[in-house]
Amino acid sequence: MSEIKQQSLFEQFEQTDIKEDYSKKERIEILKDEINKSNYKYYVEENPYLSDFEYDQMFAELKALEEEFPQYKTPDSPTQRVGSISEKFFSHKHKYRLYSLDNTYNEEELKTWYERVCKEYEKELELVCELKIDGLAIALTYENGLFTLGVTRGDGVTGENITPNLKTIKAVPLKLFKPESLEVRGEIYMPKSSFEKLNEEALKTGDKIFANPRNAASGSLRQLDSTITAKRDLSMFTYTGIFEDSEIKTHYEGMEYLKKLGFKVNPNIRLVKNIQGAIEYCKEWETKRFELGYATDGVVIKVNDIAIQKDLGYTARAPKWATAFKFPPEEVSTKLLDIELNTGKTGVITPVAILEPVQLGGSTVSRASLHNFDEIQRLDIRIGDTVLIKKAAEIIPKVIKVMESDNHNNLPVYLPPKVCPACGSPLTERDGEVGLYCNNPDCTQLMCAKIEYWVSKEAMDIEFVGPSLIQQLYDKEFISNPVDLYRLTIDDLLKLDNIKEKSASNIYNSIQESKNRPLNRLVTALGIRHVGKETADILSEEYPSIDDLAMADLDSLANIEGIGVIIAQSIYDYFRNENNTKMLEELKSLGLDPKEKAKAKSNILEGKTFVLTGTLENMTRDEASSIIKSHGGKTSSSVSKNTSYVLAGANAGSKLDKAQNLGVIILTEEDFLEMIKE
Ligand code: NAD
Repeated sequence: MSEIKQQSLFEQFEQTDIKEDYSKKERIEILKDEINKSNYKYYVEENPYLSDFEYDQMFAELKALEEEFPQYKTPDSPTQRVGSISEKFFSHKHKYRLYSLDNTYNEEELKTWYERVCKEYEKELELVCELKIDGLAIALTYENGLFTLGVTRGDGVTGENITPNLKTIKAVPLKLFKPESLEVRGEIYMPKSSFEKLNEEALKTGDKIFANPRNAASGSLRQLDSTITAKRDLSMFTYTGIFEDSEIKTHYEGMEYLKKLGFKVNPNIRLVKNIQGAIEYCKEWETKRFELGYATDGVVIKVNDIAIQKDLGYTARAPKWATAFKFPPEEVSTKLLDIELNTGKTGVITPVAILEPVQLGGSTVSRASLHNFDEIQRLDIRIGDTVLIKKAAEIIPKVIKVMESDNHNNLPVYLPPKVCPACGSPLTERDGEVGLYCNNPDCTQLMCAKIEYWVSKEAMDIEFVGPSLIQQLYDKEFISNPVDLYRLTIDDLLKLDNIKEKSASNIYNSIQESKNRPLNRLVTALGIRHVGKETADILSEEYPSIDDLAMADLDSLANIEGIGVIIAQSIYDYFRNENNTKMLEELKSLGLDPKEKAKAKSNILEGKTFVLTGTLENMTRDEASSIIKSHGGKTSSSVSKNTSYVLAGANAGSKLDKAQNLGVIILTEEDFLEMIKE
């Protein structure tokens, strides 16, 4: 008997290589269980308890372990399968199998994938790049041009027959422009704005809140009652067609043909010569995606030649001829260490999440917005919970949900504060508003927040004056309100820590320069309740000076388009408050003299309201707004029946969809420039 056989099982296990092997097997089992559980929560219950990032990490770990220890790879492993199906609907076996996609996360991985696919053909292969829409995959069957069947991807072999629900979606053509028989695949999605609106409504009615637009699209589509689906704003981008016995030789041609048949194809599709072109596309969209009105989680890169696609074939789970490049995560989970309370410029107390630092969207995040105390209560957020945080473009990350855990119920429920964290005054609620307010006009934090807002980019735009300088000036009693900024001398500034001649004169000069900012900036800076930058713009179009605005009566304020009764009342009250009128007098005596806005060049756009969307080629959206205003027109941020034109640039989002639905005239940049010329 060999030495090893004489050892007990325990002793064998203690031998490092066997132990290692055993623990890997155990790890594989743990990962499989965890991934299967999260698949069910994600695909069937639409209530994930892991962030996509965590899920993808576990999936990648399992895949790597199975490659290293193929003896532990089983056919039921999640790496060998796609999605999941529920028993909610009639199941339908797909005619052609639907696959998932393998993921890549960086340039190196993309190049490795490309080398692998090109190897056998000994040439560079053309690729098609498409945005990876974060929604729900479906397969649509058309017979003689008529939509006959719509099925979810399900597990790829069998899906759910949801034909009646799909018929309610306008982007799913019921009849094609030609009597073709074919199957197409597409992604059903919910525009970001509709997702926000749906959750806002659900908050009021107590209905289900969705964690992200993907879950909302899936939840809305997989309704047993199709009248509910019909009420939800869903759309679809078609991303492939199966053309049997067709002349179509490339994926790109196929997509062009689908457009001709009447399908909505994402306009950002691009044919590139090689992987370098695809890498450029990925880099470009990593940031540009935030301008889109719908969620994307990556780029899909596909070999263009259909014969080569067929030749390359599939793994158990994904095509070999395509890969997904995943963008850095927009959502991750982390531990909530504390809740910090801040007093804002209106006195509102905002809770801020202090988090265990975590990487999100390319930066380290340790703070996130918690909105207000109602939101904390609604989500039942407790200090010590693991929370999901989300970041989109320049928006500060926000906490969107508590991840399910056994520990949650052992943590104390969070109770809102009763007094201001800065000055200790009792907090109150205000009619018609969510939130708790500090009403002490002398509250240090409140006044510093007011001054910070005054100097901010959107208000008086005073360079070199930031929160820490304001705090120092306040603590040393040089300033106690925004007016005092204009009383500061260079000598005062030189008395501050770390301020030398050069920076003192920079600070002084930028404060002085701000005295001539246009009226709309001064109106913004005043921080009148309900008056932000956009309302300030409207007011300064109507009134030539701050005195005219101050004297305006309630009726004329309320009659201005875009200003409702509540805003009008707030403006009216502001200018009837003694402290405010005194402050305006002081500002005037210190030389504050808002420059009159440039007179309109013409009035050809008088009475016309424009909404701008997408990226313009020859000008920024701000520049286009100024042109519109200088010709007597107005701009608005949302599309309605009253919108005269939507000026749409590249990658226009949901505003364009809405304009199309309402029949609003859509202008290209060229049309617009032509209009101005006339
Ligand atoms: P996937 O979403 O990563 O990629 C495949 C899908 O991409 C296709 O089925 C298709 O629906 C979609 N797609 C979008 N645009 C496309 C285009 N232009 N061309 C082709 N396909 C396009 O894969 P999956 O199998 O649907 O889901 C896996 C992913 O779902 C994971 O990577 C993870 O991010 C997420 N997930 C998360 C959890 C969780 O608990 N958080 C659980 C399961 C899955």
